[in-house]
Parts: sequence; structure tokens; C-alpha cells
Amino acid sequence: MKTHNFSAGPSILPQFTIEKTAEAIKDFAGTGLSVMEVSHRGKEFIAVMDEAQALFRELLNIPDDYSVLFLGGGASLQFCMVPYNLMSKKAAYLNTGAWAAKAQKEAKFFGEVVEVASSKDTVYNYIPKGFEIPTDADYFHFTSNNTIYGTQIRKDFDLDIPVVCDMSSDIFSRQIDVSKYGLIYGGAQKNLAPAGVAFVIVKNELLGKVGRPIPTMLNYQTHIDNGSMFNTPPVVPVFAALQTLKWLKDNGGIAAMEKINEEKAAMLYNEIDRNSLFKGTVLNKEDRSLMNVCFIMNDGYETLEKDFMDFATSKGMSGIKGHRSVGGFRASIYNAMPKESVQALIDCMAEFEKTHVK
Ligand code: PLP
Repeated sequence: MKTHNFSAGPSILPQFTIEKTAEAIKDFAGTGLSVMEVSHRGKEFIAVMDEAQALFRELLNIPDDYSVLFLGGGASLQFCMVPYNLMSKKAAYLNTGAWAAKAQKEAKFFGEVVEVASSKDTVYNYIPKGFEIPTDADYFHFTSNNTIYGTQIRKDFDLDIPVVCDMSSDIFSRQIDVSKYGLIYGGAQKNLAPAGVAFVIVKNELLGKVGRPIPTMLNYQTHIDNGSMFNTPPVVPVFAALQTLKWLKDNGGIAAMEKINEEKAAMLYNEIDRNSLFKGTVLNKEDRSLMNVCFIMNDGYETLEKDFMDFATSKGMSGIKGHRSVGGFRASIYNAMPKESVQALIDCMAEFEKTHVK
């Protein structure tokens, strides 16, 4: 039986990425050595890092005055590196989820944090609208896709202050205008690579403006000056990221991927709305994430939750348990998730309905 991987992250990666990485773990670039065994300063790995950065730029159409970095420490380290490097006095944060709140918490170590809006009171089931962003803030931070709650902001803010975005769970899934951002970061373990590497896209002119001394490893400039090789980079995740970027390019790039992602999400949300046993958890349809589809049992059918989980598991659905703060189910349908797997989940939901609703 085929296993359909709906995990939220680490999550499904293209088969191409897995196969090419497995090959390189055995024999990297004809060296007769594993990619895990070679020097990161050797010409073979430098070529990997250079190509990964170049493809990153090409696919996202990143302007020349931005740097692209691959760093350790995950997205969580960026929660502190962003304010360390960019915040002089005050920063504005939009609180749309647990990750957004964690980012906000770290910023408080460096100055005043203005929470422009929050949907915490209703377990983050919507994206606040109509909030004001202080024009004297050093930057505005938001999380484009809230992995846990299945909400997403699919617009680029157009502000006079730098916009900083955590795109951990929707980078490369939709087209963005990088020039509208000061900094974009994320962990790789959703749409890009195995865990262990974070990406940062930063507009160079924003750096070097805070008065405080910044420890060497936490200073973006260190990594820019050293091409993400100041210390030993996470070589296997960077190698895998390059394979995913190649796969993405070969499959038509981000525009093609966005179209498929819209289709996949529409298929699944349609079933959730149609099927009398289930309901979506996100309040407004326009806030629904195309990456993480959250749903629960409909009113009156709550007791069937475990039965559906067992049934879905027996049909090969993996990783659909919702985050404990939301409950129910979460189907993560990242770039590498084939339409056939989304259809398999839909079939499973429809079959369960047939046997439980007269
Ligand atoms: N931000 C978002 C939106 C996430 O989904 C996650 C992890 O799932 C993180 C940040 C934290 O990433 P990391 O584990 O790489 O620190």
C-alpha cells in the first residue's frame, strides 16, 4: 500500500531530491566519497553552494542588491537574528500564530515591540485585517503561512518601512515580489530540504545600522562576506535543497507550482465543505492556507474523530493528525505532494461519509 505523507514538517520532498541525495551520500560528484565526508571548501561542494544560491535567486527573481544565505539554527534562530541585526528601537509584529508569537517574544530582548494585531483569542483561526503599522518602526514582521492553524497571507505588503517575513512553510509555493521585502527567512524542512538549514534573503542596505555590537555568528554580514561558509555549513541539507530547486525549475518554476497548489487546495477544501462529517477550522475562506489544510469533525460527529483517524491510517494516510492546540486533522500539501495523494485523502473522506451518514 502506498503511504501518502501529509506531515507538516519535516515533510514530503520530491522523489528526485531523495534519490539524488541518496546517490550523493554514497558517491558525491564522482569523488568516490560521500557528500557527508568531503570538505565544504572543496571545489565540488563550493559548486553546490554556488548553484543553490544562483537557482534560489533565479526562481524567486531576487534583485541584485539582496543576499541569499544558508544558515544553521533553523527558523527559530532567525527570530533572534532579525531583531539583533535590524532593530534599533522599535519593531512591529503581527501575531497570527505560535511561531509569530515566538518571533515576537525574541524581539522583546532588543527593544520595543508593537503588536499591531492578534488572533490569539480565537486560537488563531483568522488573519486580522485593518490594523495600523507604526511608520516609525524599524521593520514590520509577519508569518506568511501559519503552519499550525492553516491560515495564510498571500499578499506582499507595500510599506515604507522594511517588511520582514517568516516564509518557512510557503516559500516557493507561490509567486512573491521580493523587492517589497527587507528580509525573508525560513526553515528548509517544508518545501526545500531536510531540517538543518535555514534560508535568509536580505536587502544589503538594511544591515550595519544598529548601534549594538553583534556576535560574529549572529551577524548577517559575517555570512554574506563568507558566502554562507564562515563555519561548516549543513552540507547534506544544502545539497538536497539544490536538488529541490532543480526539480522546481524543471517543473515550470514557481508560477506552475502555484497553479497546481491552488488546484490541490481547492480539491481538498471542496471536499471538506461538501462532506457533512467535516468542517474547516479557519473562520474566513480567504484566509485558508494552500499548504496546511486544517479540519475537524462537524457538529454532532465529534465522537467519530478516532474512527476516521484509524480508517485514514488504514488507507495509507500519514501525518494527518492536527496540532494539539487545534485538534482534528491537518493535511499538509506542500509542493512535492502529488494530486493523486490529495485525491486519495478525498476518496477516504467520502468513503467514510458513506459508511457513517445515511
Ligand atoms: N516558523 C514557521 C512558520 C514554522 O512552521 C516553523 C516550524 O514548523 C518554524 C518557524 C520553526 O522552524 P525551525 O524548527 O526550523 O526553527
